[in-house]
Amino acid sequence: MQNNSTPDFGPPGVAPPPNYHPISPAPGVAPPPPLIDVPMPTPQPILGPAPVVTVCPSCALRMSTRTENETSSSLCCCISRSESRVHHYCTNCNAFIGTYES
Ligand SMILES: [Zn+2]
Repeated sequence: MQNNSTPDFGPPGVAPPPNYHPISPAPGVAPPPPLIDVPMPTPQPILGPAPVVTVCPSCALRMSTRTENETSSSLCCCISRSESRVHHYCTNCNAFIGTYES
C-alpha cells in the first residue's frame, strides 16, 4: 500500500532547480525604448492687455511684446461685448507669444 500523502516535492535535502532566467532576450529584439525627453514647457508669460516684457520663445530675446487687439466682430453689434483678445508678438522675430483674453 502506497503512502499517498507523500508531498510532490522531493525528499528533504534535494535543492530545487536553480532559478534560470525565465525569459532570455531573444536576438533581434529591440531593447525597451529609452525614456522620451519631455521638452521643458515654455514658461507662459503673464500676458495682459498691454505689452509685457518677456523672453521670446522663438528668438530668446528679451523684449517687450507687440500687441494687436482683436475685437470679436460678431454680427451682434448691438451688444457691446467686453470680450476682446490681445495678441502678443515678438518685436524682434514677430513670433506669436500668446493671447490675452479679457
Ligand atoms: Zn522673437
